[in-house]
Amino acid sequence: MTETWLLDGNRVAAAIKEDLAHRIQGLAARGIVPCLATILVGDDPSSATYVRMKGNMCRRLGMQSVRVDLPAETTTEELIAAIHKLNGDSQVHGILLQHPVPSHIDERAAFEAIRIDKDVDGVTTLGFAQNAFGFADYPSCTPAAIMAILDDYNIPIEGKHAVVIGRSPILGKPVSAMLLNRHATVTTCHSRTARLDEIVRLGDIVVAAVGKPRFVQGDWIKPGAVVIDAGYNEGNIGDVDYESCFPHAAAITPVPAGVGPVTIAILLKHTVEAAERQARSIR
Ligand code: NAP
Repeated sequence: MTETWLLDGNRVAAAIKEDLAHRIQGLAARGIVPCLATILVGDDPSSATYVRMKGNMCRRLGMQSVRVDLPAETTTEELIAAIHKLNGDSQVHGILLQHPVPSHIDERAAFEAIRIDKDVDGVTTLGFAQNAFGFADYPSCTPAAIMAILDDYNIPIEGKHAVVIGRSPILGKPVSAMLLNRHATVTTCHSRTARLDEIVRLGDIVVAAVGKPRFVQGDWIKPGAVVIDAGYNEGNIGDVDYESCFPHAAAITPVPAGVGPVTIAILLKHTVEAAERQARSIR
């Protein structure tokens, strides 16, 4: 039996950040510091950690980060007003609203308030649609990270059967569209899918985006399939039962150090690209 490849997200992320470092220097020479604004509503500890990690990574690369912390009782109108303020701030190039927001807030309305040229996580309807058409400047970061890992390891996509488990607007649906645009045959599964295990067993590429720890089982995996675990659950646990899937897979992403670090690198890349676009438009 051939050896299983461990798809190393830290290595893929490091390569992306190395390229960014040069571009950030180029912008700095012109007096521009790419800036990502993150908005956190409430005090969910995991969300606070994600936001802190993104801010730290910005600083490490010589980018700027602006943090907007709003109390849990913030209304939809107040959140939208905060987003409009960032939309109008020429020093801010990308806006990330940390998801999920408290349930009383109309999250969709808040996402829609982000200006398309600052929508670095592809959360607006227009950004989502552009991705579906295959010409988004900034597709959702986790789906883009999954594609970056597949491409970095030269994993063939065209003609392959990709099975995506999950249909959320930030992950399952956009990654399904990206795989389809790259000529995979895509099956998107969800909580009402019947005989899920049988469908997953057809997949040459399996993407787990379920939000349930160790959900995907080894005997669902076709021998030689590529398994991408986009999940992240408490205690650093993915949506794939890594131990049972590893022996069946030709290649697999670990959790942590798989999709997660590449997602952050892509977010920074999109922010740098937004700054570069703005610089070109004011030249
Ligand atoms: P989500 O919005 O909760 O969506 C979960 C999806 O899984 C839904 O489409 C749901 O189906 C489906 N599902 C739930 N139970 C299922 C079952 N028993 N069988 C088949 N499908 C089922 O979650 P998300 O935001 O897409 O996140 C998914 C995972 O990715 C989570 O573990 C999250 O932590 C992780 N994530 C990681 C990153 C990163 O940077 N690495 C970023 C974002 C998210 P229905 O539509 O029918 O409800």
